[in-house]
Amino acid sequence: MNSEFPPPLNSAAGSRRRKILLIDDDEAQYRFLADMLADFRKESFDLEWSSNFTAGLDALASGKYAGCLLDYQLGDRSGLDLLRQAGPALAATPVILITGWTAGDIDLEAINAGALDYLVKTEITPRTLERSLRYVIKMSESMRALQLLATHDDVTGLLNRREFDRLLTEEWQRASRFGRPFAVTIVDLDRFKRVNDTFGHQVGDGALRHVASLLAGQVRSIDRVARYGGEEFAIIQIETDLASALVTTERLRALLHEIPFQTSVRDGDHSIPLTLSAGVAAYPAHGDQAFEVVGSADRALYLAKSRGRNCVVSADDLKVRL
Ligand code: GH3
Ligand code: MG
Ligand code: MG
Repeated sequence: MNSEFPPPLNSAAGSRRRKILLIDDDEAQYRFLADMLADFRKESFDLEWSSNFTAGLDALASGKYAGCLLDYQLGDRSGLDLLRQAGPALAATPVILITGWTAGDIDLEAINAGALDYLVKTEITPRTLERSLRYVIKMSESMRALQLLATHDDVTGLLNRREFDRLLTEEWQRASRFGRPFAVTIVDLDRFKRVNDTFGHQVGDGALRHVASLLAGQVRSIDRVARYGGEEFAIIQIETDLASALVTTERLRALLHEIPFQTSVRDGDHSIPLTLSAGVAAYPAHGDQAFEVVGSADRALYLAKSRGRNCVVSADDLKVRL
């Protein structure tokens, strides 16, 4: 998994020409800008055109454009409103707002609404347009790289703990509002210190990646897998009750038990057996608050350790113990 971290920043990059989206109600403006894009010195782009607010918003949300030129005035709608509605699409596609006016605080409004640059129509030349597009595309790539670093663990490529906590809070808010369940699994590798002591930390890191890809490969795409600490992982399974979460976690445990980590070190190939212990808790059965559910899963994990490791324990067992 590590080879994929960070993942390619722009899937549109490649041998084919990248596309720029123009959202503008004026066809003459489309022809004018298409001619300019054809006259760029470095990379040439194809310009595609959306002539109204709704089609433009859909095209922007598709994520298939390297950048977007957005007219300030879209019939009786405003480009600023489109920016505000675009939300997360702006993280994938940088937008330059184009306007006929320089008046007021349009530049600041544009940036505050999520545009990365701003151009005045009368000042647009092939050079200024090329500079601005290159700038926003680069800026957007850097922002995505930073975002990835801030939210992911660089050894395994999984979510980091901070992002896990944020998503857990979000999930808890959703679940408590709509009366839905979710489950949390906390996983801790068994006797992992021995792997490091025997083979060294680099092999240990490889073993963590092995476990990470196994966990991430087994859960649904809507579920969240994080590296919670050193050799601890955490999983949020949304819309999942305790019974189903126990089944999934038991499958993970059995799979890791079956598939050892294969590695080559100086003295030859090694197959390193790994096992995990896990605690599983669910909302709302094991806590009203997200942190209480995590706490229950954590205590169930300790119970799993005390029962001899390589096993999954439900937070229901904690109640029996009291
Ligand atoms: P237990 O079954 O009780 O959990 O035993 P354990 O050896 O797994 O537990 P312990 O907490 O004693 O040791 C955890 C080990 O995990 C120690 C540490 O070297 C290792 N570890 C933590 N983070 C990393 C990491 O980023 N890379 C590597 N290679 N090892 C790590
Ligand atoms: Mg541990
Ligand atoms: Mg451990």
